[in-house]
Formats: sequence, C-alpha cells, structure tokens
Amino acid sequence: MSTIPNARPVSAPRLGTLVRCPECHSTELEVVLDGCNVNFYCASCIRCWHIELNRVVRIDPATCYGCAHVNECSARFASDHRAEIESSPVGA
Ligand SMILES: [Zn+2]
Ligand SMILES: [Zn+2]
Repeated sequence: MSTIPNARPVSAPRLGTLVRCPECHSTELEVVLDGCNVNFYCASCIRCWHIELNRVVRIDPATCYGCAHVNECSARFASDHRAEIESSPVGA
C-alpha cells in the first residue's frame, strides 16, 4: 500500500485553512490577514477564528488585528463571553 499525500477526503480541513465555521458551519468565511497570521471571519455568525497547531480557536477581537469587523466581533465576543460566565460554575 502506497500513501499518496494529496489523496485526502474532501471534507477534511487542510492545515492552515478553515473551510467551515466550527460554530455555525457556514462556509462563507472571509480570510483576514493580520500581518503574520491568517484569521478567518465568519460573516454568518460574526466570529473570528484562527488555526493554531491544527486546532481552530476563537480569536479575542482585541487581538484580531487587520479585522475589518472588529466592532461587530467585539460585541459578539463580549456577549458570548458573558453568556459563558453566567452559565458556567466557578472554576469550570
Ligand atoms: Zn459562523
Ligand atoms: Zn475579527
């Protein structure tokens, strides 16, 4: 059995590329360049994402340089963060 590097399932995310929003599963992602990083803005749920060590992480809008949607991002992030605090036990 030989392994062909380029033969991958279509649905598998490629390293460094986000094809689908992990939150709302939209594929309408906008690439945001902040100088040295590549981020992905989801226009559907107004969240910014970054791929870090092959994991998708949510960006704090305060560090989302180059994002043209920082105001929307910040509002969304703040409301999400508040919801997490309210619904999570202390220390969780
Ligand atoms: Zn989304
Ligand atoms: Zn952003």
